[in-house]
Amino acid sequence: MGVLVLNAGMEPLHTVSVPHAVRMLMRNVAEIHEAETGSKFGHFPLPKVVRLVRYVVMQWRYKHPPRWSRRGVLRRDDFKCAYCGKHADTVDHVVPLSRGGERTSWLNTVACCGGSSRSCNARKANRLPAEAGMHLRVKPRVPAWTEVYGPA
Ligand SMILES: [Zn+2]
Repeated sequence: MGVLVLNAGMEPLHTVSVPHAVRMLMRNVAEIHEAETGSKFGHFPLPKVVRLVRYVVMQWRYKHPPRWSRRGVLRRDDFKCAYCGKHADTVDHVVPLSRGGERTSWLNTVACCGGSSRSCNARKANRLPAEAGMHLRVKPRVPAWTEVYGPA
């Protein structure tokens, strides 16, 4: 589980591990913005979100793509299925995991409709799009930070 780090101006920057977040608190680099109620890590409430005390220039964002997440893929693709354009509620691995596709790559994942046997997710199953006779309407790409987390 990661701890979300917010810039002093509240923009999400990245996630860090709990021990890393606690070290930031101990060094007074960051303050707790949101904590897990009832849980502690040493003397600190278990942080869920920490906020930097001083504003950092966001060069970090230019060097690092946002971390992959299912939610991020859905947001990048505007919750539209990459195959049929209907509402997407799941994520498809273009090259299936069973065929060596990467699990957490922005470039191997697209938003996809799921939930029924007629959904694109069920139709494609463990096949490549071409094998399933399906066509990608969008090319998977690494999203901008704002596409995943909203405007800064
Ligand atoms: Zn679909």
